[in-house]
Amino acid sequence: MATTGTLLTSNSPGNKLPRVIILATGGTIAGAAESSTQTGYVSGQMTVAAMLAAVPETNDIARLSGEQLANVGSQDMTFKIMITLAKRINELLADENISGVVVTHGTDTMEETAHFLNLTVKSRKPVVLTGAMRPATAVSADGPLNLFNSVAVAADPQAAERGALVVMNDRIHGAHSLTKTNTTSVETFLSPLNGLIGTVNYGHTRYFRKPFRRHTFLSEFDVDGVATLPRVDIIYACIDMPADLIDGSVAGGARGIVIAGDGNGNMNTATLERAARAAQQGVVLVRSSRVPTGRVGRNVEVDDDRHGFIASDELNPAKARILLMLALLKERSLKDIQQLFFDY
Ligand code: ASP
Repeated sequence: MATTGTLLTSNSPGNKLPRVIILATGGTIAGAAESSTQTGYVSGQMTVAAMLAAVPETNDIARLSGEQLANVGSQDMTFKIMITLAKRINELLADENISGVVVTHGTDTMEETAHFLNLTVKSRKPVVLTGAMRPATAVSADGPLNLFNSVAVAADPQAAERGALVVMNDRIHGAHSLTKTNTTSVETFLSPLNGLIGTVNYGHTRYFRKPFRRHTFLSEFDVDGVATLPRVDIIYACIDMPADLIDGSVAGGARGIVIAGDGNGNMNTATLERAARAAQQGVVLVRSSRVPTGRVGRNVEVDDDRHGFIASDELNPAKARILLMLALLKERSLKDIQQLFFDY
């Protein structure tokens, strides 16, 4: 989809409000149903201009321009779109007249795009992702207030140097910690491991902390000149899991595999043996966890040193996969890759 800019509010020299750019990618925030109480709906139906027209109050807090980068349910988000998004944000935020960026996005994979942008945007300025759990046509749609609050955070100089943020339901989450926890509730995102970055209530912001890990302007990852990322698969551990899933991934060309392990990154003995064999062949094996919160430590029940595995530390499987994909863009030792999981 073309990245055409639409001026949404007055850009006259008299208007001194901060300039914020909305990059729209689709999701339920742009979704529509036939009736206001229907559970079934289609994501990515409304344009960025239509979404903003529903919240004229945003014009009181920022000068807005919108660009439609895509219009998909985030289950159809791709690395191609994410790379385009990161490059566009880097271009926009290099402009001294632009204060911040808001990305509208589906909630299903929002934590993945947030984490990706947290690693690849090269700016101290605010990058805020937002979305909605209820389509724009629903009773009590949550998108308009989420959008208003996101613009407030993107326009706020105090939001700087906090990495990519997700603003939903009055909460400001950091990209590293947040995760989607409920399939339908508006209170779906939580930051169980490290807590919230802050709150935002009708545009009034409060901040509690900065992220502890490296991100954005402190990140070594760069998507300039990058068009695709190496394949990394996720394999979900469970009772009696079939060990040949590992072989399937390796045969399919995966350069890395993330195990969504039981508990502290465990898997059954049969899978462990195949995983160790894959690691010997040069596939990078990361142990993460299917448990929603907690760290995966090295050498707890699995001998990572002996098998040549990486422990994901605080990253859930989907985020561990993204870090590994970026890590594999260049030659690195296993020791260096493990260090990335402690640093980011
Ligand atoms: N499937 C939708 C999406 O991720 C759900 C949402 O946006 O809440 O695009």
